[in-house]
Amino acid sequence: MEENLNQRYPFINPPLPYAYDALEPLIDEETMRLHHDAHLQTYVDNLNDLISGYPDLQNWTLDQLIIGNDRLPWEIRDAVRNNAGGVYNHILYFSRLAPAGETNLPSGELLSLMEQRFGGFSGFREEFKNAVGTVFGSGYTWLVLDRNGQLQIVTTANQDNPLASCFFPLIALDLWEHAYYLKHHNKRADYIDNWFSSLSF
Ligand code: MN
Repeated sequence: MEENLNQRYPFINPPLPYAYDALEPLIDEETMRLHHDAHLQTYVDNLNDLISGYPDLQNWTLDQLIIGNDRLPWEIRDAVRNNAGGVYNHILYFSRLAPAGETNLPSGELLSLMEQRFGGFSGFREEFKNAVGTVFGSGYTWLVLDRNGQLQIVTTANQDNPLASCFFPLIALDLWEHAYYLKHHNKRADYIDNWFSSLSF
């Protein structure tokens, strides 16, 4: 699925790499269906509508549309930022989830970087949760690589993407209410715990 992070127009909604109910009971089937087939699909459709009128942009990749947002025609700049972000962010989010028993913890170079920066996986988890607490309203918390190849945790609002700030995203946690409200209602902390249990590096 993540090979579609640098796809070009016409953009597609790649199928999930697991069944809609594969993450039950941690992440429920109805949420996954709506999240993938309705929310992500709408971002794909909107982005295609936007780019259809701009042949010069049809060879830009999804990540180029995000990184080069300030070089786009002014009249579509905000809409492309929101919708290209909506496509990229969701594909990364879904790519990093796996059914119970199939999740991978960090290993190799990523684990070394995590040990340097956070003292290990549990330190990463604690700092990540602290960052989640600073996201007010709709947005994301991310694990990213900075320009020096070091790990950082950053947050963004709406469907903004860290690529626009010269960070390379590794992990995306969707904190929009549509990601958890059907199952968890207002208990966002329960969703975060269940997301962590489904997270696969
Ligand atoms: Mn979402």
